[in-house]
Amino acid sequence: MIDIKSLTLPELEEELSIMGQPSYRAGQIFKWLHSGVKSFDEMTNISKELRKKLDIKCYISSATIEKKLISDYDDTVKYLFSFRDGETVESVLMKYHHGYTSCISTQAGCKMGCTFCATGMGGFVRDLTASEMLAQLQAEQEDGNIRISNIVLMGMGEPLDNFDNVIRFLRLVSDDKGMNIGMRHISLSTCGIVPRIYELADLKLQITLSVSLHAPNDLIRSRTMPVNKRWGTDELLEACRYYIKMTNRRISFEYAMIDNVNDTDACARELAKKLRGMLAHVNLIPVNTVSGSEYTKSKAERLRAFSEVLEKNGIAVTVRRTLGSDINASCGQLRRGEKPIKRVVG
Ligand code: SAH
Ligand code: SF4
Repeated sequence: MIDIKSLTLPELEEELSIMGQPSYRAGQIFKWLHSGVKSFDEMTNISKELRKKLDIKCYISSATIEKKLISDYDDTVKYLFSFRDGETVESVLMKYHHGYTSCISTQAGCKMGCTFCATGMGGFVRDLTASEMLAQLQAEQEDGNIRISNIVLMGMGEPLDNFDNVIRFLRLVSDDKGMNIGMRHISLSTCGIVPRIYELADLKLQITLSVSLHAPNDLIRSRTMPVNKRWGTDELLEACRYYIKMTNRRISFEYAMIDNVNDTDACARELAKKLRGMLAHVNLIPVNTVSGSEYTKSKAERLRAFSEVLEKNGIAVTVRRTLGSDINASCGQLRRGEKPIKRVVG
């Protein structure tokens, strides 16, 4: 069966021409698919005969809402979605003054094993297809009767470990005949798969790249992020410099502040030294608690002191607001098949 929603317009034209159809038909079908229809029967300007043929040859992937949790603190919503094969992922919808941002998953699970991350602890199951990434957005739009304006690829999984499907998704979601969400409204977060950062840089997409750094040196980073044993901190920063050179885009370095692990003034000074002169800023996040992990958040005064050291050394820094912490919807808290821990709706 063909995963029709993962096809680009030229690929769809090719498939339809094999079926003896004119290319404008592909345009019509593409529009339907990206408006979120779940069956060919909803494509009312397509003949019944063709709809039937398509239904035999292709499937339209969708994300079914298995659970939905709404934060009492803010308007954050966490969804548990299931796909065709029953595999599940979580996704988080956040409401900001400028509109809705969706944080979607790119893999069911993750291979990278970061020790502070619930997804990493759960292991890896499979990559998501481009259509399954789109389906998460479509299900949220339909459920809330809203329009998503920004996307962050910061849910479950390592986007650059599912490179081809992620790039395909980026092209599809930004297509003006599709959801038309521009690259500048999309952020991708990586734990630092160095060769893929070079590949991404060469594509010169206008997305925002976030790099999960979380430590200023190999000693600390390798302790919390196994990926660092493969590609060390300096190698990673070199790739980041290349990315900035190629795209002229500012990189956002994520830094989860963990009590007594990476939060000393000396760490801040070392970090500032390594990032000096780069078109970048540091995003400090008090580490979120995850069951099975012993890490605790840095104290508020540590966070303040750390950011002051960075600022004094000329590094732009922000402290990230934590959304949805009461529903385990914050960074690093997403799991496959999380049981409802709070209010269940729908
Ligand atoms: N795999 C990608 C994207 C998904 S994780 C990556 O690692 O970048 C999204 C972000 O949450 C990353 O910056 C990640 O390092 C961070 N994160 C993971 N666990 C966390 C935790 N317990 N507290 C705060 N941030 C966490
Ligand atoms: Fe995977 Fe990112 Fe979690 Fe690390 S932080 S285990 S790369 S999802």
